[in-house]
Amino acid sequence: RAKEAGRNQVQFYEAAMHARIAERASIEAELRHALARNELSLVYQPKLDLRSGAVTGVEALLRWQHPTLGAVSPARFIGVAEETGMIVAIGRWVLRMACTQAVAWQQAGLPPLRVAVNLSARQFRDQALLEEVRAALHDSGLAAQYLELELTESLMMHNVDEAVAAIENLKQLGIALSIDDFGTGYSSLAYLKQFPVDYLKIDQSFTRDMLDEPRVAAIVRSVIALGHSLGFKVIAEGVETASQLDYLRGNDCDEIQGYYFSRPLTPDAFADLLRSS
Ligand code: C2E
Ligand code: MG
Ligand code: MG
Ligand code: MG
Repeated sequence: RAKEAGRNQVQFYEAAMHARIAERASIEAELRHALARNELSLVYQPKLDLRSGAVTGVEALLRWQHPTLGAVSPARFIGVAEETGMIVAIGRWVLRMACTQAVAWQQAGLPPLRVAVNLSARQFRDQALLEEVRAALHDSGLAAQYLELELTESLMMHNVDEAVAAIENLKQLGIALSIDDFGTGYSSLAYLKQFPVDYLKIDQSFTRDMLDEPRVAAIVRSVIALGHSLGFKVIAEGVETASQLDYLRGNDCDEIQGYYFSRPLTPDAFADLLRSS
């Protein structure tokens, strides 16, 4: 019986593995057409200044609505896009769309806000990135100060000298930069001071656990202090409750982002939120 149970388990794992491989293959095949078929869109999540209570900007987040697969989350397709290189074309579209949207909001009479775009490792290493950012700003008419790029630590630590040079070039365009998911990658504190970024984004896993685990709270307070002493502003991701917000405000965090204030919104819903606040 034990033998049979073992065999059943092996079959179970093999079936699960085959299902995963098949899912990945279908995501890859379908993603190839997603852009051309207009299945991709962006939603925008506001960032809130904890002192003034003002919305300081939004983060553009990619959404994929497939006719039969339904809504496919970034967790399921960004990795595939990255591995296959499709992220370069998709990322270029995201950048242009986000800049165009920011200008459209301004033209609709909203106060000028910064729009943040996530960059993947592949895009960051792409030699054409600098020119693409310049072109996206130029073609949309968005002033550079209203664009922010979010980079992850791992992406920058891959080749530190190259990363510092790339970041300096991007900074010279006049855009803002932030380090996303801070604390989850393997960044060396020794290098941190070399990156001329504007924001550290505390990863949502820290925000989630900080009120239950004193050690996580200690990390959050330390990251805020570290960020400030290096001249960065600090923003906490994944804020879902009033008590999390209060804790962050009490510990001098600059900004928050999370479901407590707002979920990611369509462009129209975001405009409505700003007009009503
Ligand atoms: P991220 O850049 O760290 O984005 C934050 C994620 O947290 C988003 O998930 C957002 O919807 C979610 N979130 C925001 N507030 C809360 C909250 O209060 N609680 C919880 N539990 N989650 C919250 P999303 O949209 O599923 O995106 C996941 C990741 O996919 C992003 O993480 C980013 O790494 C990647 N991604 C999304 N859009 C793009 C894109 O256009 N390009 C690239 N390269 N990556 C993207
Ligand atoms: Mg991000
Ligand atoms: Mg993040
Ligand atoms: Mg994240």
